Amino acid sequence: MDPIAELRSPLLGAVPGLRHGFVADARRAPGGLLRPRQVHGARVLPVEALAGDPQEADGALTRPGAPAVAVVTADCVPLLVADPAGRVAAAVHAGWRGLAAGIVERAVDAVRAVAGPGGLVAAVGPAAGPCCYETTEEIAERLDPGGRHRRRSRPGHALLDLAGVASDRLAARDIEVDRIGGCTICDTRWPSYRREGDRAGRLLAYVGFAARRAGEDAG
Ligand SMILES: [Zn+2]
Repeated sequence: MDPIAELRSPLLGAVPGLRHGFVADARRAPGGLLRPRQVHGARVLPVEALAGDPQEADGALTRPGAPAVAVVTADCVPLLVADPAGRVAAAVHAGWRGLAAGIVERAVDAVRAVAGPGGLVAAVGPAAGPCCYETTEEIAERLDPGGRHRRRSRPGHALLDLAGVASDRLAARDIEVDRIGGCTICDTRWPSYRREGDRAGRLLAYVGFAARRAGEDAG
């Protein structure tokens, strides 16, 4: 298979002025991105908090005129949320701990605080898939109480669809979701901590707004 350089979401691609992508090798990401120090938590910070020595967070918010923001993953779920009117966008790192801690809901609240009550759009990128991602039944039950996104594997364990859990949580908040890319564990074009351990590279998901040239109509 040819390597994937970058995937983009048609849904986010339709937002005026927005630029975004899921880059297979974080070292090849565009320059000028700001990233939080990721800790598998539920904190979401504005882009201003990421300059210099970045603070700990797993979600980052940006707006037109500010630098783009990014998160890195290797099996966890990378997701991007945007206001379709192009006023604000967020990049989120959502592993099982972050999902359990409510990172998706916190990020949506932070975006809505700027965008207002209208609909939002989101893209959920490549992550450990239900074909390969085994966890304990306890964690699977906690993240997916309805049982829609898991099936039993061996005793005490389940195969869980983390991206499915994240997508459902976005959809439950009235957000249109684009799910793109497959499983990072079995699709070797993506970095995977489960498959490669400490040697794994990082996938980078970024979102920001194109610089507006002087005299250009805001549209
Ligand atoms: Zn897989």
